[in-house]
Amino acid sequence: MSVHEVIILGSGPAGLTAAIYTARASLQPLVLEGEPSSTSDQPGGQLMLTTEVENFPGFQDGIMGPELMMNFRGQAARFGAKIETVKATRVDFSERPFKVWVGDPEAAEPTYTAKSIIISTGAQSLMLNLENETELIGHGVSTCATCDGFFFRDHDIVVVGGGDSAIEEASFLTKFASTVTIVHRRDELRASKIMQERAFANPKIKFIWDTEVKELKGADKLEGLVIENRKTGERSDLDVTGLFVAIGHRPNTDIFKGQVAMKDNGYLITEAPSTRTSVEGVFASGDVQDETYRQAITAAGSGCAAAIDAERWLEAQHS
Ligand code: NAP
Repeated sequence: MSVHEVIILGSGPAGLTAAIYTARASLQPLVLEGEPSSTSDQPGGQLMLTTEVENFPGFQDGIMGPELMMNFRGQAARFGAKIETVKATRVDFSERPFKVWVGDPEAAEPTYTAKSIIISTGAQSLMLNLENETELIGHGVSTCATCDGFFFRDHDIVVVGGGDSAIEEASFLTKFASTVTIVHRRDELRASKIMQERAFANPKIKFIWDTEVKELKGADKLEGLVIENRKTGERSDLDVTGLFVAIGHRPNTDIFKGQVAMKDNGYLITEAPSTRTSVEGVFASGDVQDETYRQAITAAGSGCAAAIDAERWLEAQHS
C-alpha cells in the first residue's frame, strides 16, 4: 500500500481549499469527500443544502451553494487532487503513517495510509426533524441568519431555540424582518443573561414559550407553521414565511474520539493560530474546529492554513 503525503477528510470549503493548496504544492492529496446523504455530513458540506450564496467574495451576483462547491471540487481536481466518494469509518493516529479505513471499520488492514492528515469533516446544524424540513432549506427554512437574513426583508419570521445562537440570530434578523418571534420549548432561556436582556429589550422580538413547532406548511416554499403548547397540548397556526432553526450544531467528529483532543462538545482543539491538533502531523480546519464563525469563507481560509501547515510540517520531516 502506498503511503500518501496527505489525506484530506471532508470536502466542504475547508477540505477542498486544503486540496487546492496541497495539490498545487505537488503533494498529490487524496480527498475522501464523504458519501451522499440527506444531511450536511455529505460531499460538499453544508453549502450543498443552501440555495443562493451572496456573501462568498468574488461572486458579484451571488452563486448557488451546490454550484460553488462544484467549482471548488473542479478546481482541486484540475491541480491533481484525487477525490474518492467514500467516507472514513475509522482512523488510527497512534503511530505514523496514519491509518484510515473506509467501509468495514473492523477490517484488519486500513484502506489508506498517510504521512499527514487534514481533518475537515465539518459540522451539522441540528434540525427539528420535521417532514419537509430538509426540502424547504433555502425556501423559507434556514440555519444561518448571517447567510440568509438578507433574503427575508419584510417577512414574518420564527426562530426556534433558547440558547445564545437563537438570540443572536433573532437580534440579527430584526434588521430585515417585519417581526421576529422566538419559539422556545421551555419558559426560560438557556442564553446568557446579557443576551437575554438584549432580546427582551428589543421591541421587534416576541416570544412564544413552552411551545414546539410541529408542522411546516407549504410544498415549494414555507407558508406557515403549526405549533403546539407543551403544557396545554393546544395547537395553532403561525402565519410566517421564514423559519430559522437555531438549536445547536454538532461537529462530525465521532470517528476521532480518543484519537485527537476535542472539547466536551466534540469540536476539535487546534493550537491557534495554527491548525495543529494534539497529534503531530494531523491538522484540522473548518467548522469541525470552529464553533464561532461557521462561515464558508472562514472555513476556506482555515483550509488554506491547514494546507500550508501540513506542507511545512512534511518538509521539516524530509529535511
Ligand atoms: P445551545 O446552547 O445548546 O442551545 C440550544 C437551544 O435549542 C436550547 O435552548 C434548547 O432548549 C433548544 N433545543 C435543542 N433541541 C431542540 C429541539 N429538538 N427542539 C426545540 N428546541 C431545541 O446551542 P447554541 O445556542 O447554538 O449555543 C452553543 C454554544 O455556543 C453555547 O455555549 C453558546 O453560549 C455559544 N454561543 C455563544 C454566542 C455568543 O456569545 N455570542 C453566540 C452563539 C453561541 P433547552 O434550553 O430546553 O435545552
